[in-house]
Amino acid sequence: MAEIRLTNTATRKKVPFVPIDPENVRMYVCGPTVYDRAHLGNARPVVVFDVLYRLLRHEYGADHVTYVRNFTDVDDRINETARARKEAGAEGTIEQLIRARSDETIGWYHDDMDALGALRPDAEPRATEYIDQMIEMIAGLIDKGFAYEAEGHALFRVRKYADYGKLSGRSVDDMIAGARVEVAPYKEDPMDFVLWKPSTDDLPGWESPWGRGRPGWHIECSAMAHELLGERFDIHGGGNDLMFPHHENEIAQSKCMGHGFANVWLHNEMLQVEGKKMSKSLGNFFTVRDLLTGNWSGGWKVPGEVIRFVMLSTHYRKPMDWTERKAQEARDTLVRWKSLIDNQRDDVARAFSGTEPPQIVVGAVSDDLNTSQALTYMHAIAKEAAESTEKKVELAESLAFLGFDYAKNWSVSFGYSLDKTLEKPIEFEKVEKRLQEEREKAKATKDFTEVDRIKSLLLGAGLEVRMYEGSVEIDVTAEFDPSKLEALK
Ligand code: AMP
Ligand code: ZN
Repeated sequence: MAEIRLTNTATRKKVPFVPIDPENVRMYVCGPTVYDRAHLGNARPVVVFDVLYRLLRHEYGADHVTYVRNFTDVDDRINETARARKEAGAEGTIEQLIRARSDETIGWYHDDMDALGALRPDAEPRATEYIDQMIEMIAGLIDKGFAYEAEGHALFRVRKYADYGKLSGRSVDDMIAGARVEVAPYKEDPMDFVLWKPSTDDLPGWESPWGRGRPGWHIECSAMAHELLGERFDIHGGGNDLMFPHHENEIAQSKCMGHGFANVWLHNEMLQVEGKKMSKSLGNFFTVRDLLTGNWSGGWKVPGEVIRFVMLSTHYRKPMDWTERKAQEARDTLVRWKSLIDNQRDDVARAFSGTEPPQIVVGAVSDDLNTSQALTYMHAIAKEAAESTEKKVELAESLAFLGFDYAKNWSVSFGYSLDKTLEKPIEFEKVEKRLQEEREKAKATKDFTEVDRIKSLLLGAGLEVRMYEGSVEIDVTAEFDPSKLEALK
């Protein structure tokens, strides 16, 4: 068993990971607020913690790991969409329209994150389904003197918790100076944060000892983590933009309830695009779906596994830059690795288990999720793979371990079905273009030899070829055999 070492944000040290109970290793990751499509930055923690989840499952057994990632479905932006729909004549109560908007967004989230090869967590609690637990926790904090009620709000007394700010290494006074704390007349101290706030009649609300209202964002995670993982669990993760105030507040609430809460805190760094912060005004903001469908500055459809590969090429604790160049390189590497394996598909398939990645690759990932090092090792394995079935198997096992799950569509094609969720493998675009160019040439020279040669090669490889005025389309049939395309190269 490889020793797993993780950098705990709380101590800023890389230490061996020792689970509380190896029979049930528990991890909580802050999930999305489900008001719209996930952007590319949101995908980073999903991929990072998916790799950790896979590593833990590999080490402790798939049945001995519990991964919880929540959906925050109490949010003004969700309410706004529901309200706009209602005004536009949509049927249903505002509550039903809010629920429908969250359902819709959660569906998109699943589609997009599935396309990145991320396993679904064991539980994906929605905040609105844990309101009772939140109320109970807030009431407990008020009982213990860590919180108070004021004008229909419940607020947490930050100065009562001596360790506040420890995770992010700040003092309360620094935080007051730097933070956008809301000064409100009902607060004892501007630093105090909301546990519960009143709702107006046109907003969703729940009855509570402090009147009809809704929970603050931070208490959601504390209550759901407690309900699903217990008072003490192993790992808590999220993007480092959440460290303050969200995670500081989660810790304060849970610790003051007497819960041990998380042993290890992990934070991924942020994602940028071509060296700049992703933002709508810079025109470099895109959702995962935009990339999958080609609706971005690069203009081509980026298969989910290419996005995944790019994410894994930067260590999670370093800022990551998305560039088109990286995406092209990742695509080319994946195509090369897959066709290497494909050349000996049957032999590899016979030896492939999907559960036995090479030690060196597991070792790299175990070392604080050093996925870029793991990919470097895989490049070395690939170099020897042309001459060695064993190395091809190692490469396939490594890919599966990192979440490039070819085992699933092994029988379709190892080499060319880059992403089964998209209609067309990207390699085909080139072939379509080439055939069209040859057609144009042939029209002028009246020599159709090359056109016929390419076309019969494609048909012979089990592809469907459709010729239109000015364009060509290729599609895969069940008989598709990529090895028969070699002669095209
Ligand atoms: P949100 O829905 O905004 O609460 O974000 C969901 C998750 O995405 C959180 O874990 C954030 O830390 C993470 N996140 C948001 N923006 C970025 C970014 N640019 N790079 C990396 N992670 C991000
Ligand atoms: Zn959270």
